[in-house]
Formats: sequence, C-alpha cells, structure tokens
Amino acid sequence: MNQRKKIIAANWKMYKDLAEANDFFTFLIDKLPDTNTEVLIAPAFTSLWNAFETTREYPIEIVAQNIHQEEKGAYTGEVSAAMLKSVGVQRVIIGHSERREYFGEDDALLKAKVKTALKNELKVIFCIGEKLEQRKANTHFDLIKSQLQSALFDLNKSDWEQIVLAYEPVWAIGTGETASPEQAQEMHQFIRETIAEAFGSDTAASVSILYGGSVKPDNAQALFSQPDIDGGLVGGASLEVDSFIDIIKAV
Ligand code: PEP
Repeated sequence: MNQRKKIIAANWKMYKDLAEANDFFTFLIDKLPDTNTEVLIAPAFTSLWNAFETTREYPIEIVAQNIHQEEKGAYTGEVSAAMLKSVGVQRVIIGHSERREYFGEDDALLKAKVKTALKNELKVIFCIGEKLEQRKANTHFDLIKSQLQSALFDLNKSDWEQIVLAYEPVWAIGTGETASPEQAQEMHQFIRETIAEAFGSDTAASVSILYGGSVKPDNAQALFSQPDIDGGLVGGASLEVDSFIDIIKAV
C-alpha cells in the first residue's frame, strides 16, 4: 500500500536571475521526460511569478525557498505565505541547513514556519540533516529524531499529507561528498520508523523522503533505487538543464 510520490526538487538557492531562469524553463519544457515523478523547482523569490506563468501548462511545480512565520507586518525584506500563494506557489522549503546555519533559524522558528505554511494551505518540504561532527560522534540518529520531533511532532496525522521530508546530511551539501546509498537508506529507514512510532505505519509509509547532498547524474540512480528514498532535493546539479533531466530520469 505504498503510494508515496516520487519527487525531484531543484533548490536553486541564490542562483539565476530572471533571464537565466527563463532560459532554463524554455529548455526544460522542451526536454521534460514523460514521467510519473513530480518535478519541483524552487527559484529565487524574484523569479517565482514568472516561473509559475511560464510552466503552468506543464507538469512542473514552482516552490518557494523560504517563508516568514508571521502572516503580515513590519518585517522588512520578508515574504509572507499569502504573498507566495498570490504568485502561484503551493509549497515551500523549510529547515534547509543553510537557513539554520547562516540565518540562525532554530527549531522553534522552524516549527512556527511550518505552522504558518500549513495554516495557509501551503505544502512543506522540511529539511533535516546532521553535521559531520555529529555523524563522527555517532549522535546523528538522535539529532535527526530531535529535528523531527521539535518541528513536526505536534502536527495532526492529516497534516502529514502536506509534508515531504528531505534528509540532507550537511557534510554532503555542495561539497561533492555524497552519503553512500547504504548510509542514506539507513537514515531514511530510521526516519520512517520514527514517524511510524509517533503517527502510525500508514503515515510513515505514505510520506515521501527525499535525499539531498551532492546528488549528480552519476550517483542518482544508486541512491534512488533504495527502498526508502523517494527522490531527491538537488542543489548544484539542478542548475544545468541536462544534468537535472538526467537526475529526473534516474528515479
Ligand atoms: C541543497 O541545497 O539542498 C543541496 C542538496 O545542494 P547540493 O545538491 O548542491 O549538495
């Protein structure tokens, strides 16, 4: 009864201006493989509306990279859930390690962001992942469990239909270093078991868990063929159309 979705999501971070994003979409639309895998792209805020308009006839979903936790107010430079929805966004990435590390986003803040997203009927890609020192100290399972618990464990069972998880070991993001398929599978299985304990095995079986961390065309298939890996959240290799398409084809 495993009906969970296969997903490839591109996280463009602070790359690609409007013209560059447009070029990408022109090529992507032309070459998009016929697939059941859901294709998601998270461009910068400045490209969201145009990306949505350009891709609305195609099986490509436009995702935001961030959201503010408040509904509105005097928060200079921030973007609200309603603003995202007004430009066609239906899903947002929350908890990326770069937000945690460089913008001080802690568990309490991430929990608030998840709440605001769901309240506004935005789906969430929630990122979790350990640093190298935590893996070396063998505390990575505890850390992942606590990241899940603090942001997501007071959700209702039905909220989980709106959640996709991305396991992204911090030591593998943008470093060229990838978790081995076995390391990734071991953690994805642990994540699923942790969700099963709290929300039941049906919820655990239906949540898509993506792997992120230096996914490339040449390692994608080995990762995605693991039983608990349902696709990828891809940074660097999503910036170039051909490598992104090869990764989509690898699912
Ligand atoms: C990411 O930013 O989520 C990511 C996984 O980046 P990269 O693929 O470049 O490691």
